[in-house]
Amino acid sequence: MKVTVFGTGYVGLVQGTILASVGHEVICADIDEKKIADLKNGSIPIYEPGLEPLVKENFESGRLKFTTDLKLAVEHGEFQFIAVGTPPDEDGSADLKYVLSVAETIAVNMQTPKIIVNKSTVPVGTADKVAASVQKKLTERNTNLLFHVVSNPEFLKEGAAVNDCLRPDRIIIGTNNSDVEEKMRELYAPFNRNHDKVIVMDIRSAELTKYAANCMLATKISFMNEMANLAEKLGADIEAVRHGIGSDPRIGYQFIYPGCGYGGSCFPKDVKALIKTANDLDYKPELLEAVELVNEYQKTKLFEYFNAHFAGNITGKTVALWGLSFKPNTDDMREASSRVLIEALWEHGVKVQAYDPESMNECQRIYGQREDLALVGTKESALKNADVLMVCTEWSQFRAPDFELIKESLTDKVIFDGRNMYDPKLMNKKGLKYYAIGRGASV
Ligand code: NAD
Repeated sequence: MKVTVFGTGYVGLVQGTILASVGHEVICADIDEKKIADLKNGSIPIYEPGLEPLVKENFESGRLKFTTDLKLAVEHGEFQFIAVGTPPDEDGSADLKYVLSVAETIAVNMQTPKIIVNKSTVPVGTADKVAASVQKKLTERNTNLLFHVVSNPEFLKEGAAVNDCLRPDRIIIGTNNSDVEEKMRELYAPFNRNHDKVIVMDIRSAELTKYAANCMLATKISFMNEMANLAEKLGADIEAVRHGIGSDPRIGYQFIYPGCGYGGSCFPKDVKALIKTANDLDYKPELLEAVELVNEYQKTKLFEYFNAHFAGNITGKTVALWGLSFKPNTDDMREASSRVLIEALWEHGVKVQAYDPESMNECQRIYGQREDLALVGTKESALKNADVLMVCTEWSQFRAPDFELIKESLTDKVIFDGRNMYDPKLMNKKGLKYYAIGRGASV
């Protein structure tokens, strides 16, 4: 089947590549000329495990093409996927300008019927807006070409995006048209063999399902962080509590890790967008507001520990920082906890020596050259001449470091761990002072 994907970011590039890998003919279109030129030259603009060889293989086979020629892109696909960004506007609402711009591009250029598939995370009612915008342009063009707008939200996780798209837990199809449903089922059939993962529903419910999923996950994290903060004050250990509650199958062990806050391009913006939607409907979303507040506070925790440890005398200190990305296995630093920490440290005259396995270029791009930022090539070199170590991302290579080396290298033998990676008893034995999240009984 012929598919066009607008947007070659984390969602569009992965989904387009995966669709090509099962035999569909895919064109990925983007307005970012450099991105498309890089992709044509075999350079992948994002880090996503397993993506690079898959892009290469499918590009070389001719099933996956890249273009900035939007007219050509519209002509190609019966399916027109919208996978562009929906960043937060100043008031927290999702900014739909990229989505609506693609809708206009499709409407202006289409010569045959199209199924417009919205993969971007968009507020309820956006499919109607897209349909109205396309219809308006078609009327202006004096044509009554047929089109349908489908909501098909994406649930991939950065860092596991290839696998998530190859083996999705569910494929949500929001449509009220049975022919469109059939076509969508055919498109996704290669990913739907083990058991039926397709869930068909009305468009508005599909749009809300995506927000509900992300807000539920964000709620789990903020709930655990609230428990962690209480544990700390009560002299309890949140890690023991986590084991204790996770054993209840109604709760489960997944996604109940306390830490220094959630980040990324999705949870923060999607929680904010749903709050805005609720406010617009005169509904006060008490729970969602609390989820966001707890998270904002949580991102300040490591700095608070650090500042308190030195009784406020932190100017001139040097921090070794391990982990910049908002989570492991990605180079994405959007809304990362590390950024809140780094910026607070700089504000207080603290120098940062940072290492991350994949986000060094991204960090350089965001902050440029600065005297108070050294981006170093290994986790060990980050420790050199540093006063303390801070950990912001739970990359697997940080799990079992050389604690002797850490102790020898640091001026003050302290670790501030935002992801509860180490055993407080072991840290004690090693002669390292250890701060973690909600481990009141242990630190
Ligand atoms: P991204 O910022 O990585 O990529 C978006 C791409 O769209 C960019 O390359 C940009 O140049 C391109 N673009 C903008 N306007 C365009 C236009 N008119 N025509 C063609 N291309 C255009 O975004 P992303 O992380 O892939 O997210 C895309 C959407 O999917 C968002 O709504 C996001 O909330 C949602 N989503 C993201 C994830 C994730 O983990 N990143 C997961 C599920 C859903």
